[in-house]
Amino acid sequence: MKVAYSDIYKYELPDGHRFPMEKYPLIREQLIYEGTLEVSDFYTPTPLTWAQVGTTHTEDYIEKLQTTNLSSKEIRKIGFPLKQSLVDRGLFIAGGTYQNALYAISNHSIALNIAGGTHHSFADHGEGFCIYNDFAITANLLMNDHDVSSILIVDLDVHQGNGTAHIFRNEDRVFTFSMHGARNYPTKKMISDLDIGLDDGAQDAEYLSILHDTLPRLIEERSPEIIMYLSGVDVLHTDKLGRLGMTKYGALQRDEFVISQAAEHDIPIIVSLGGGYSHRLIDIVDAHANTFRVAKDIYR
Ligand SMILES: [Zn+2]
Repeated sequence: MKVAYSDIYKYELPDGHRFPMEKYPLIREQLIYEGTLEVSDFYTPTPLTWAQVGTTHTEDYIEKLQTTNLSSKEIRKIGFPLKQSLVDRGLFIAGGTYQNALYAISNHSIALNIAGGTHHSFADHGEGFCIYNDFAITANLLMNDHDVSSILIVDLDVHQGNGTAHIFRNEDRVFTFSMHGARNYPTKKMISDLDIGLDDGAQDAEYLSILHDTLPRLIEERSPEIIMYLSGVDVLHTDKLGRLGMTKYGALQRDEFVISQAAEHDIPIIVSLGGGYSHRLIDIVDAHANTFRVAKDIYR
């Protein structure tokens, strides 16, 4: 088991922006403090090159990022002010996701990123706090450079993985599965290979029963060489944006099920965090930390 993290993940948005960027260093600190992870479990990812980003994002969008020359409308869509440092930070995070995949494949294991899961990023634009699509870039690099021909994306963030769905709409080697709030952002959903839209207020029992009915079937049908799991904790009932009714324990059981399915079938798995906007920062950190606790339990 390996965990990607760099101090560059820390980022302070200007006053007035309340996207919870604080969570990244806090998750790492908590996991070390409680003894779930050792400092030696972590590595510092190297940033992606622009050529690697170019497997997925358009030349035009890349040029705008390189020169931070986006229109105010494009920046509004992303959701926070775009600075060079934020553009660079994203390259490290997506680099972590890719290097996680290489580690997971060569060790038949799990690797987690204390960030990433930026599934609202499309080939030609960013939105919903997402600049680069880390899973899409990673999947493209695995297919192009490592002969991987079956990838299963399990996107359980409460928001639909619209960018990922759109990027892989014509790619048979990547199966996109998104389970999300039907009435939540994005209003205009893209079409994944499998979309399951949940009603507002959906609770643990319903959620877990759908997941139990679906995931083993997908694994059997697709025989993926890698699973990419987006473990957003905005499914919690305490979430400001989530609209679902899940408990922290329900989210833990969800993580446990996905990760143990990968382990039982000996399928390499990578995890990126995705969203989490509970009122109390401690709930966000604790729910994300649960994903790592569960992973450590299964892959000790
Ligand atoms: Zn989300």
